[in-house]
Amino acid sequence: RLPLVAICGRPNVGKSTLFNRLTQTRRSIVGDEPGITRDRIYGEVEWAGRDVRLVDTGGVIPDDEALIPAEIFRQAKVGLEEADVIIMVVDGRTELAAPDIELARLLLRGGKPIFLAVNKMDTPELEAGAENFRRLGFRNVLPISAEHAAGIGDLLDEVWAAL
Ligand code: GDP
Ligand code: MG
Repeated sequence: RLPLVAICGRPNVGKSTLFNRLTQTRRSIVGDEPGITRDRIYGEVEWAGRDVRLVDTGGVIPDDEALIPAEIFRQAKVGLEEADVIIMVVDGRTELAAPDIELARLLLRGGKPIFLAVNKMDTPELEAGAENFRRLGFRNVLPISAEHAAGIGDLLDEVWAAL
């Protein structure tokens, strides 16, 4: 069985964009295990000669804003249970929001290898802003732009090294 990496984060931070970028050349699988997977999407990524399974905990709900906060936390808990490594995504262009802080707390408590991807850092000048997010308490903070494919290789290198 392949190792599993879970992408967590509140709505609109870019989870699906990251997931789609990473899995674009691979088949995306909509899970059908009762109870948990209808709202989760699984895919596969090959990097550095190694296949890994990826889950977008935001799922297939077209407008993620429809996810109530409790649902985000439920998804994060499932992610924590089943994943080997967690990537928490935040929107680097917005202020830290209360759900980010609560979610970070929950995920960090899980004791699994965990990385903070500060997304929407589309230009090198923006990358400095990622440092603000260190306040969340993550040791591993990586600026990325899921849309512009920046920082993705570095993120994968670090995540893969933790597997
Ligand atoms: P999710 O709700 O966390 O799955 O977020 P989505 O992947 O649906 O993205 C939410 C919005 O952020 C969409 O309008 C994306 O186009 C946008 N977005 C995602 N990644 C980036 C990025 O790297 N840069 C910018 N500028 N926008 C992004
Ligand atoms: Mg999504």
